[in-house]
Amino acid sequence: MFAQQSQYLNLSKTTYNYSKKLKQFMARVISADKCVACGSCIGECPVEAISEGDVYTINADACIDCGACEATCPNEAISEA
Ligand code: SF4
Ligand code: SF4
Repeated sequence: MFAQQSQYLNLSKTTYNYSKKLKQFMARVISADKCVACGSCIGECPVEAISEGDVYTINADACIDCGACEATCPNEAISEA
């Protein structure tokens, strides 16, 4: 009984880790080397996944990989993960 529960928990953990990796793979990323913090991208994001800063960043958990931000970046700082 306990062995089955433990196997189930391990399987759940593995599935969770894979879905997390898949989510990161299906998100855009901002290159810290290229971003000049112009702010063009942030207003384009339909799910508010972009954060301001010295260098802008994308929250991979929130990003739906629509590409709207990438199209507005003047410095080609945004790309697929
Ligand atoms: S790809 Fe779309 S959802 Fe992801 S950060 Fe850019 S605008 Fe937002
Ligand atoms: S549009 Fe490009 S350069 Fe401007 S803040 Fe966004 S990622 Fe950085």
